[in-house]
Amino acid sequence: MRIRRLTAVFWATCIIAFIFILYVVTDLSFKLPSIKPAMVELDDSKWSSFESKLRHIENELSEHHAVVGEIKSAMEQMAEQSQEHGPQKISQPQQRVTGEKKTREFKVVGDEPPRMHKKVNMTNCPIIQSKSKVDIQMLSMYEKILFDDKDGGAWKQGWNIEYREDQWSSKNKLKVFIVPHSHNDPGWIKTFENYYKQQTRAIFNNMIEKLPEKNGRKFIWAETSYLSLWWTSDATEKDKIAFQNLLNSGQIEIVTGGWVMNDEANSHWLSVVQQLTTGHQWLLDNLGYIPKNGWAIDPFGHSSAQPYLLKLSGFENSVLQRVHYRVKKELAQNRQLEFKWRQLWDGVGKTDMFTHMMPFYSYDVPHSCGPDPKICCQFDFKRLPGNGMNCPWGLQPRKIIQKNINERAYLIVDQWRKKAQLYRSNVVMFPLGDDFRYDRANEWDNQYSNYEMLIDYINNNDGWNVEVQFGTLQDYFKAVHEDIKLSDFPVLSGDFFTYADRNQHYWSGYYTSRPFYKNMDRVLLSYVRAAECITTQVVMSGAASHILALQLRDRGEAARRALALFQHHDGVTGTSRDEVREDYAKKMFTAIKYSQSAIQQAAYYLLKQPAIKDQTAEDIFFTVDDIWQRHDEIPSRVTVMLDELSPSRRVALYNPLLFTRHEVLTLYVSSPHVEVFDPEGNPMMAQISPVVTGERRLGFATGKFQLSFPVSVTPLALTVYTVSLRDAMSINKYTSYSRVRVYNADYLNVDLPKMFAVEQPSGRLAEDVTLWAGSGAAGEAGSGAGGGAGSVRLVATSGGLVKALVTTDGQTVPVHMDFVQYDTQKTRDNNSGAYLFMPDGPAQNFRPDPFPEMIVTEGPFKATMYTALVGPKTADILLSLTVYNNPALPQTEVEVSNTLLIDPAVDDLELAMRLSTHIANGDVFYTDVNGMQMIKRRYFDKLPLQANFYPLPAAAYIEDERTRLTVLTSTPLGMAALQSGQIEIMQDRRLSRDDNRGLNQGVLDNVRTRHTFRLIVEKSATPCVRSLEQAYGLLSAGAHVSQQQQLSPALALLHAADEGSPRPHHARARTAAADIVLAAANAHVSGKTKDGVLMQGVGMTFQRVQFDSCFVNKEVSKSFPAGDGQIRLSDIVDVAADQVFDSSLTFVHVRSPLPGGELALCPMEIRSVFINHTLRH
Ligand SMILES: [Zn+2]
Repeated sequence: MRIRRLTAVFWATCIIAFIFILYVVTDLSFKLPSIKPAMVELDDSKWSSFESKLRHIENELSEHHAVVGEIKSAMEQMAEQSQEHGPQKISQPQQRVTGEKKTREFKVVGDEPPRMHKKVNMTNCPIIQSKSKVDIQMLSMYEKILFDDKDGGAWKQGWNIEYREDQWSSKNKLKVFIVPHSHNDPGWIKTFENYYKQQTRAIFNNMIEKLPEKNGRKFIWAETSYLSLWWTSDATEKDKIAFQNLLNSGQIEIVTGGWVMNDEANSHWLSVVQQLTTGHQWLLDNLGYIPKNGWAIDPFGHSSAQPYLLKLSGFENSVLQRVHYRVKKELAQNRQLEFKWRQLWDGVGKTDMFTHMMPFYSYDVPHSCGPDPKICCQFDFKRLPGNGMNCPWGLQPRKIIQKNINERAYLIVDQWRKKAQLYRSNVVMFPLGDDFRYDRANEWDNQYSNYEMLIDYINNNDGWNVEVQFGTLQDYFKAVHEDIKLSDFPVLSGDFFTYADRNQHYWSGYYTSRPFYKNMDRVLLSYVRAAECITTQVVMSGAASHILALQLRDRGEAARRALALFQHHDGVTGTSRDEVREDYAKKMFTAIKYSQSAIQQAAYYLLKQPAIKDQTAEDIFFTVDDIWQRHDEIPSRVTVMLDELSPSRRVALYNPLLFTRHEVLTLYVSSPHVEVFDPEGNPMMAQISPVVTGERRLGFATGKFQLSFPVSVTPLALTVYTVSLRDAMSINKYTSYSRVRVYNADYLNVDLPKMFAVEQPSGRLAEDVTLWAGSGAAGEAGSGAGGGAGSVRLVATSGGLVKALVTTDGQTVPVHMDFVQYDTQKTRDNNSGAYLFMPDGPAQNFRPDPFPEMIVTEGPFKATMYTALVGPKTADILLSLTVYNNPALPQTEVEVSNTLLIDPAVDDLELAMRLSTHIANGDVFYTDVNGMQMIKRRYFDKLPLQANFYPLPAAAYIEDERTRLTVLTSTPLGMAALQSGQIEIMQDRRLSRDDNRGLNQGVLDNVRTRHTFRLIVEKSATPCVRSLEQAYGLLSAGAHVSQQQQLSPALALLHAADEGSPRPHHARARTAAADIVLAAANAHVSGKTKDGVLMQGVGMTFQRVQFDSCFVNKEVSKSFPAGDGQIRLSDIVDVAADQVFDSSLTFVHVRSPLPGGELALCPMEIRSVFINHTLRH
């Protein structure tokens, strides 16, 4: 019987399967032939409903014209490019001068036959779907609320909260989780190490002693940097077991688990990824632990990039605190303090992060148990008499004893009940902690034993219907989700800048404080990324020795930790004490050296392999052309020394980007009589210019010259150029000498070699100056317009400031540059400091000497104007304005470099650069979100000046229907758009006062600082009309390319010795897409599979960027084509397809294998892969 039934089942299955296959085949071949490649990701069962889905998608698309239009035109552009270039081809360097092409010895992209690629099914991408709408859009909320500041009584910034006792019953009790925590800044008033020695070490030691005393005791910890320091320097084996047990039992939860609790305004998202990865990798390697919940209670305002990065890391919940008091009140009134935080471009909800916002003024105990700090403070038992700390509201804590327990318990239950009124669930979180708390044993005893008595009493008082316990974030969120469905929470999009904690105290000063180190942060980021990319290439090449791989890893890891540490919210923010800032800077300085050392060794390996000899960590093969002499000094350039003994030097260029870069490179050389050869030995066109020196007074350097020439380097490639001395007597048609003009410096005795044509008009300059680079430029500036053989023209005022740009097609666009300055308010409790910007009114003009010294150098590739702006008793700025003739990037772009110092004799001054245009943007402008994406902002008259300043981590733009001005910055700074047509960027601030946020000092440690900006003017052929609802912006392809080239510069590696002849090229990557950012490449990571198996390997993260479809420059798109979102890992490194797995952002979760080793990315998405790879011994 049994067998017969089985047989019947078998045949029935076969018949069903056959019919199904027949159906699928006919369905495929007759109905859907053309879209077959796009359908690979759908599984069989979905075919039958495909048509209805298509209709559904079409309906949705038609509802969403604006975005769809953009995507469509972007796709058309891509199709156009792929027709012109073929699917895999990289545009060839366009500047090669020699006519005949030689066959290359090395493999480059484009030599390969085109391959079939699966396409990303764009209709499924969150950016073009509009299935669900957001409930709270932060910019719309800003438009609505009046920002009044009414006194709310006990809860000053809120209102008098009321409730009914019958809200709760024995079946529906109020659940309260007391969450003990200690906020440990990795550097602020003390250095990271000093805090550790004096406080944090004791916290850990007490933790493992006191928590096991009772089962119900819980604790959360956030900063992995401290945990790792304790683990490696003080914890005994017994301590480690105790800690691990507490972690395993859930008594300790590690929250966020980053190396630090990162700043969210100035930090670059690539650095945030580094700091999260550093922490998570340490936790997995040492504790087998993977954090689940986010905790960011102290960063000064919150960015929308953060929830996305946490989501990608596998998190489901997070907590944040520092949000404008008026925004908190608004959300609290609507019970919206818990919400699903969604990315601005996500129409599906794929990026939602469940977020809990704390409702009150601070994360300390007085502002955490409920609305009344006077009451809550009495329940901070560290403040019991005799502990050197009390409550400033007059009422002191009392030890809980039988006699007072009823009254005490009722008092705090009342606060919890009130707090519960602000949230949708019946669950209350009560964080119990503060900065560096629980460092003394008696604090543990006081807090835990008093609360244990209260917990016992309250839980046994049936009439109150309250169930209270110690808890972790995991405990709290689990209870919330059990109580309320996720779908019942509102959806929010946008961010939480600019933060104000009270009155008109807006925290927009820290966007700019200590800008030298903010700049250094970006330099270090570029080095850490380059080092990790090239290390990954070496490790994956398979032939690297184990020792070399370990050496590279260790230096990379040390550099990454310094970068991670500085992401702390008192690091890159510039809000630590002077000696702590000094400590950070020294750590970053060492990290830059480590990175440079690793990069040059890896480069040597890639160029020489397989004939590599054993290396030691000290070997120097190349000098990186960026010499950091000190941790607080602008780095200098290497001069390539050429003489009869060594007449020729090789320079290797490394491109850490995933697209071919085309740019004008400048080296310093010791002689003006030089020529340059490309990797094949062909001579190249080059320009020689004098080196202009000086700070307050200009001059020419002796014995060194600028050598500028156009270079092209394919993705992740090393390309070797050769610089050689040439016979000074012979004619050289390849080298041009700059024309030099000197203004307002009659005294200056110009002593330059005679090849430079020098003009030095006497008298003072009274007219505008035009600057232009191009083949006809020297001697006849401005003559080459229209022919396309030159750069944008720059018109500067007689004072040396930008006045207008003339686009490559001849349109003049006024862009007027000014410098302005602010003074501070000086009343008690109201003044600017490291955190706050509190100007005493609108900016005043910065008035430098009206006839500044100016030097102009112009040639075929590059033209620069140097101006020494000296403002007596304010500041001096060495301004240099450069335009490049880069045929591959023919956009209207000017590089502005400000080297500045505020006069040390000045007490309070903030210096800003202002750009004014005729662009009719009204009050709308766009800034970047941690360099990840662009957010729409508006100027609001109802807010004070300081509230209208926003973080500028990387880019901003203003636009009208025809014109867009984009500003890219090398340094994160504060910015505003105070008038239509205007962008203002803070440069530096010097402040003599403390702003009462605990730092206890001003900002007076200014050093000479250099910021480099790129101004890009773009014109649109058709009017660009934006949907009013769209709350995000997009950079154009040209601006994105320029930004990437600025953020990740080509590294020039100068051969230290002339030994052996390295290969002229190393190019392994067979992919190139201008819209793909290689966000991380970590050569040594650990990950855990779903089944708990630990794996070792290589991690990589990619971002696909969406370009604006209105401001399009077809020439730029030709040189820098976008891809199709499909990334085959074997095109980048040596890897077998079956070793590539989908992974979380920090690589700790290893998920399913990626078919074919290919990753498919929707526009705006970020995804990571884990490559199974163990180091060879
Ligand atoms: Zn902090």
